[in-house]
Amino acid sequence: MRKLSAGKLVIASHNQGKVREIRALLAPFGIEPVSAGELGLPEPEETGTTFRENALLKAHASAKGTNLPALADDSGLEVLALGGRPGVYTADWAERQWFEGEKGRDWYMAMGKVEGLLAEQGPDVDRSARFVCTLAIAWPDGEEAVFEGIVDGDLTWPPRGDLGFGYDPMFVAKGYDRTFAEIDPAEKHQVSHRADAFAKLVAGAF
Ligand code: IMP
Repeated sequence: MRKLSAGKLVIASHNQGKVREIRALLAPFGIEPVSAGELGLPEPEETGTTFRENALLKAHASAKGTNLPALADDSGLEVLALGGRPGVYTADWAERQWFEGEKGRDWYMAMGKVEGLLAEQGPDVDRSARFVCTLAIAWPDGEEAVFEGIVDGDLTWPPRGDLGFGYDPMFVAKGYDRTFAEIDPAEKHQVSHRADAFAKLVAGAF
């Protein structure tokens, strides 16, 4: 595959947390990351039905809008007993109307929805789940590359811990007894789906 050369790379995300994490991961490679937010690029609608489609859609939109290579991340939680849901709708399950016209994300509501659906299947339901992270690179001439990372685990209830974000308080990675919200973020970043996808990107693109 085509290599990423030193110079500017657009991080096709308006999510400050993701941009910060990606910047740190790219620091050793002579890459100059600039975020889509900093460049004032519009956020494309995520109309894809897979992580891959959404990551590619975001990467191509930024590459075309800037004439620079662009990197996008799409991620989420797949629960086996729920047929892979919430999947690409992971962030949407947390969407909530706080005040009239104002939307926000409520992660405890989202985790409660997952737990409620599992509970409907009885006490012996299979609680295995995985986080998936798909990274896509697009070049302005249309070339693309995709890397997928996974971390397998089980869902626990009630949620525990206040580190991390999203569904971390109910996710226990294989080999752990603490949730992702109970372990140090530096440790999480060694075993997470995003770390797995980045290791593949580094092996392929540098
Ligand atoms: P995206 O911004 O459309 O890719 O949404 C991804 C969503 O998946 C996030 O908003 C989180 O809810 C969830 N997610 C992704 N990675 C993690 C993680 O490492 N821990 C907890 N939740 C995650």
